[in-house]
Amino acid sequence: MKIHEYQAKDLFKQYGIAVPDGVPANSVEDAVKAAEEMKSSGTSLFVVKAQIHAGGRGKGRTKKNNAKGVILCKTIEEVQESAKALLGDTLVTIQTGEEGQEIKTIYVTDGVDIENEYYVGILLDRAKSKNVIMVSTEGGVEIEKVAEETPEKIVKEWVEAGMDLQPNQARRLAFALGFEGDAFKKAVKFITALYNFYVEKDADMVEINPLVLTPEGDVLALDAKVTFDANSTYRHKDIQALRDTSEENPIELEASKYDLNYIKLDGNVGCMVNGAGLAMATMDIIKLSGGEPANFLDVGGGANVETVKNGFRIILEDPSVKAILINIFGGIVRCDRVANGIIEAIKDPEIAKKVEDVPIIVRLQGTNAEEAKVIIDNSDLNVISAVLLKEAAEQVSKVLAA
Ligand code: GDP
Ligand code: MG
Repeated sequence: MKIHEYQAKDLFKQYGIAVPDGVPANSVEDAVKAAEEMKSSGTSLFVVKAQIHAGGRGKGRTKKNNAKGVILCKTIEEVQESAKALLGDTLVTIQTGEEGQEIKTIYVTDGVDIENEYYVGILLDRAKSKNVIMVSTEGGVEIEKVAEETPEKIVKEWVEAGMDLQPNQARRLAFALGFEGDAFKKAVKFITALYNFYVEKDADMVEINPLVLTPEGDVLALDAKVTFDANSTYRHKDIQALRDTSEENPIELEASKYDLNYIKLDGNVGCMVNGAGLAMATMDIIKLSGGEPANFLDVGGGANVETVKNGFRIILEDPSVKAILINIFGGIVRCDRVANGIIEAIKDPEIAKKVEDVPIIVRLQGTNAEEAKVIIDNSDLNVISAVLLKEAAEQVSKVLAA
């Protein structure tokens, strides 16, 4: 689960992680009011930042006003202009895709002078089953690029499972960044507090790019990207409250309401499968047959009429879907029941209309698979049955070519 930068920075403050002051705003008036208050307490440089669930804002541009997603402002008037340009416009960055994301909130922050920029990231290294803290002196740059071109400039420390980050590890990381004196102490404190936050709040990724050293010797997070393990938010009510569903894919959101495990992809063949492993294999088969999967959809063990109906509704909301492949293994569930469920679901008037031009290929294997095939073949619906996965794939190729 992703959160906005301003939310992440609010959480950081609770953990003693240094960040510049800032105020989120949903209107131009609120942004101006925030800037005026900041000015009266001494701020002379403001930064107006689009709050969307994607990075690369500084280099991104909005569609209508061609404004940058991060704007440095010297005056209240500039803050006002920037707020006007950003709010309601759509920001396109390398992470949003062409469609971009609408800006509903901006963050007016206290601008800081930058002496040096750094990178700090924490995530789970799945290969090592340990959390890894990565730092680099190449802050403010895309870290993927650094990893590719100059991997030696990324320094890592792995934390033993069940242990805290050790003081010598935090010191080694601060040292690798070249910090000295008082700033070194601040960097150690920063990294330690950031790691504690990551563990206690069940984050699965924390990325600070850039972390900065100011001419006054302060060490601050200028940016904050944080994602949480969605399976853990039940034990963090405060994190749950930060969820902004308007930033999520609307079809995925609807699927989560039906308890369906759906992820939208870019292809043209929708698929409905029981079990995540089989779903992965089915997507491979679709690719081998020359199609591209339009989604990942695991309907779980049951595959009853309601689940299948909801699955169809979700898949058919994606206009790129040209065919649907249903691949169900009847282990606990009986295939004949699934077959009847599929037929009943397709007879639903709302679904029937949508599948008129979308051929459905059904492959049912397992308990009562033969009876199931007879049921599918005897129905007068636009459904093609297949016994082997290979046949199903061939059918997909055929209907795509037609
Ligand atoms: P991102 O582009 O989405 O990663 O957004 P960031 O929060 O990282 O901001 C983009 C860039 O704007 C940063 O890399 C900085 O170079 C610059 N920036 C952001 N805040 C400040 C600030 O307070 N002062 C200065 N001088 N530059 C800033
Ligand atoms: Mg950044």
